[in-house]
Amino acid sequence: MNDQDQRPVYMDHAATTFMKPEILAAMAPYFSRYFGNPSSLYRFARESRKGVEGAREAVGAALGASTDEIFFTAGGSEADNWAIKGAALANRERGDHIVTSAIEHHAVLHTCEWLEKQGFSVTYLPVDEFGRVDPGDVGEAITDRTTLVSVMTANNEIGTIQPVAEIGKVAHDHGVLFHTDAVQAVGAVPIDVERMGIDLLSLSGHKFYGPKGTGALYIRRGTRIENLIHGGGQERGRRAGTENVPGIVGLGRAIELATADIEGHNRRIAAMRDRLVRGILGSIPDARLNGHPTERLVNNASFSFRYVEGESILLLLDARGICASTGSACSSGSLEPSHVLLATGLSHEEAHGSLRLTLGDANTAEDIDYVLEILPDAIGRLRRISPLTPAHARIPEVD
Ligand SMILES: *Cc1c(COP(=O)(O)O)cnc(C)c1O
Repeated sequence: MNDQDQRPVYMDHAATTFMKPEILAAMAPYFSRYFGNPSSLYRFARESRKGVEGAREAVGAALGASTDEIFFTAGGSEADNWAIKGAALANRERGDHIVTSAIEHHAVLHTCEWLEKQGFSVTYLPVDEFGRVDPGDVGEAITDRTTLVSVMTANNEIGTIQPVAEIGKVAHDHGVLFHTDAVQAVGAVPIDVERMGIDLLSLSGHKFYGPKGTGALYIRRGTRIENLIHGGGQERGRRAGTENVPGIVGLGRAIELATADIEGHNRRIAAMRDRLVRGILGSIPDARLNGHPTERLVNNASFSFRYVEGESILLLLDARGICASTGSACSSGSLEPSHVLLATGLSHEEAHGSLRLTLGDANTAEDIDYVLEILPDAIGRLRRISPLTPAHARIPEVD
């Protein structure tokens, strides 16, 4: 039924999402009809400006923030860089210490490593076996030199949702700023920057059916933060560069759609995800679900299969038209096991045999059936050719 010539079964929504037609339709006029520069003074540019400001209202409403606390960026990575570098540099005379977690996205981790080279010190908090940060650990890590805590709302590899409100409270009790990378959480976890004690929040359009290369940083009014991109006076003097008007309009429409009915969306996706997880754990021995059993994104099914390599699983799935990903990131030619899986206590071997399936609005019940048909057979083939596989973990061949 499904092979590589047909529509792929797309189960990599944590990497990026397709763009919904109504979002594309909302953007279309801003490429050609309303092409004016939002900074221009003539009436013609007013439509561009209105497009940008309408999107700003939509993002503010989705986060429980004010419109003037939203700043558009060219994606989640830029928002993370801005939040962390900007807060660290602006508050340097108060302190030079940052607290983050070991399982952050590289946009956070590599930014913190760069700051270490500039003389800052960083504490990378451990997580438990489910990938959760203990808010008590945050409190213990904070010193009188700490100016910023950065812990993600939900993890992109294993889906674990952090106790963000508790962490925000600990940070504020110590007079420290709190940043959260909410890129994976928008549309799945209801966000309220007041209730959660968030000062800085990053988001990215292409993770919730909006356009790639669009994002935003929420900056609580009064927060001391340096600019990252210098130049013209756009974004009230905080982020230079002519606005990506169509992209911003798309981001605004996308966040409206993604947050209109989070409960309904989560119910629909969780039903598919639960069937997928049950089916896989029920048919493949020596398999484990990574991440938290309940405090997890509804669309995330991350597994470790012993005695096999994640990359080999991907190749076999790809040959059958299934798009998935591993927990490994290929860095500088060597296959490094996922820092997230290692931080949850997995061995290198277990971390290498990981597979991440992330569901979304592209998926149907038939997609779940198809993966449940293909995956056990793929793991079975790989285990039959692996000398490491013990007898109990072999999966008999079916014809
Ligand atoms: C995708 C992702 C990012 C990066 O966002 P881009 O818009 O692709 O730069 C940052 N953090 C998390 C958790 C992500 O999943």
